Amino acid sequence: MDFIPQMEPNFSSEEADAVYDYMKSGGWVTEFKKSREFEQMICDYTGAKFCHLVNNGTLSLSLALLAVGVQPGDKVLVPNLTMIATPNAVKFIGCVPVFGDVSGDSLTLDMKEVKRICRKEKIKAVIHVSLNTRVGDLTHIKDFCTKNNISFIEDSAQSLGSFYKGKHVGTFGDIGSFSFSSPKIISTGQGGCLVTNDEELSEKIRRLKDFGRDGGGNDSHPYFGINCKFTDLQSVIGIEQMKKLPERVDKMKDTWKRYYDRLNQYSVQSSHGIKIEMFPPNNQEGTSWIPWFVDIYLSSEKVRDNLMVYLKSKKIETRKVYPPINRQKIYESPDQDFPVSNDWAPRGLWLPSSSKLSHEDIDQVCQEIENFFNC
Ligand SMILES: *Cc1c(COP(=O)(O)O)cnc(C)c1O
Repeated sequence: MDFIPQMEPNFSSEEADAVYDYMKSGGWVTEFKKSREFEQMICDYTGAKFCHLVNNGTLSLSLALLAVGVQPGDKVLVPNLTMIATPNAVKFIGCVPVFGDVSGDSLTLDMKEVKRICRKEKIKAVIHVSLNTRVGDLTHIKDFCTKNNISFIEDSAQSLGSFYKGKHVGTFGDIGSFSFSSPKIISTGQGGCLVTNDEELSEKIRRLKDFGRDGGGNDSHPYFGINCKFTDLQSVIGIEQMKKLPERVDKMKDTWKRYYDRLNQYSVQSSHGIKIEMFPPNNQEGTSWIPWFVDIYLSSEKVRDNLMVYLKSKKIETRKVYPPINRQKIYESPDQDFPVSNDWAPRGLWLPSSSKLSHEDIDQVCQEIENFFNC
């Protein structure tokens, strides 16, 4: 059997031709017309009014915080289960990440935690992370933030292609952030963008990513800003990738269903000792949920780790779900209790989820999981 990767970017001749044509056209490579075209495609797809491309989905979060007026020393609430980029983007601009536990229903920030923490600490902004594109308490947290004059930012890096209650994930917050790094549903190698419906915030983001420049091409700088610009060379790839997004969304739905139909029978522990928990797809009205990766949760961290080693020996690559942030050395906080993220995350495994995966690959992965448990 061939090696089955956990994920891989998916480029083909369309991207190659677009890059070739662009280079032949004499463009300056840096951000210009092709980037405006790519931004417009993101607006059209997500329904956001404004989109600004930036160099990645981490600095995008720092810029979003600066745009809403967060100052050094301010506290920003983030979930204890997310990619390290979320708290690091907070720390990078001299702010203090405060961690809230996630809910066991979605593994996203728990509304009860938001309320509890905002009662005892002065929180300037909340970053909601749609982890594996699940939204959990998204709209309730947003309403709470609006009422309490707290900025609400969405780290929707994993969620391009997912809609919730008729709106694209990432368009609920004051600002939403996406990433185009290699593992994401579409990629430009590195890259990211911010979306917003607020013209003033949009203008602030534009300045922040371009040295605080007054307008196009001059050297007048009434505002602070750095350089987080994108490139047209990446945008021509992004444009081709955006054209393929609807097809990738369908493919991901199909992949999820095939795994779910086969593995969900083990959600109750069987006589073989196999237990696999999966979150059911969200089928609410107006909601079109696709996972970023297919995630399963085993009965313990040890079973998860052993299964991972076994699958590797069968040339199947998997990836551990992120460790809870309080277990990362840089943020270690042993005196703080995060029962839900510390229970779930160490049992979580991302299965092969590439957009190039075949039905045979999926069946093979499921078969090997069953073999591991001798059933
Ligand atoms: C990928 C990701 C990021 C970081 O994006 P980069 O483009 O790699 O900087 C941030 N947050 C989440 C939730 C992500 O999945």
